[in-house]
Amino acid sequence: MPTECIQAIVTGYTDYRDNDRILTLFSAERGRIDCKARNCRKPTAPLLACAQPFVFGEFELFTSSDRSTVNGCDIRETFYPIREDVDRFMAASAALQLCNAVIEREAADRQLFSLLYHILSFLAYTDSDPKDLLIAFMLHYLDHAGYRPSLTRCAVCRRDVRQDAVLYYSPEAGGVVCGACPHGGKQVSKLALEAMRRMLLLTHDELKRVVLKEELQKELYAILRNSCARMLGDTDKAIALLDQIG
Ligand SMILES: [Zn+2]
Repeated sequence: MPTECIQAIVTGYTDYRDNDRILTLFSAERGRIDCKARNCRKPTAPLLACAQPFVFGEFELFTSSDRSTVNGCDIRETFYPIREDVDRFMAASAALQLCNAVIEREAADRQLFSLLYHILSFLAYTDSDPKDLLIAFMLHYLDHAGYRPSLTRCAVCRRDVRQDAVLYYSPEAGGVVCGACPHGGKQVSKLALEAMRRMLLLTHDELKRVVLKEELQKELYAILRNSCARMLGDTDKAIALLDQIG
């Protein structure tokens, strides 16, 4: 079997034996690749630097009978500053876990890769609030997965609700719900709906512009956490991380 070079981000790992790791790579062209990185935990190992979460590089993989092994890696970006701040680290880890929950083998996903790459860059190299970045990431992530929320029409009766005074948000229904329809959700502010509408208009390289006041940040985080849980299930690792961030 041939050796191939693949550009990818390390989105996770599992340690095994004394010095080895199985890395989860996310490649824009190939989706998820699980591969062995032998001896990468030895302090002097050539693979030590690349076998870390967030690393973006060109990985040289050797594949034999459906198993891939990392031969080497040309590191392009480590996003190192993420490791120096606990809030940035947690937000970036949540973004990785959300990606791990949906990426599949041999399934190209350039859009999600681009979204992850941009968010990691902003978490590492801008002063943006990590929670604002995570909120923008979650909203675009849900949209990409086919869960774009209904924001101006009731998700149940489809009526235009822009003039309604009292509205609710229901992840089950898929967005805003009017007072006349069964909602089972919490009341949602007009500000939160407008913020989501605007954030969805931004391209990935514009997401660093998102700035949210504390109250609105809290409201949006709860809405998007519940929407992700609705999509992935409450027991998914990503949801546990989102709850830890709170
Ligand atoms: Zn309705």
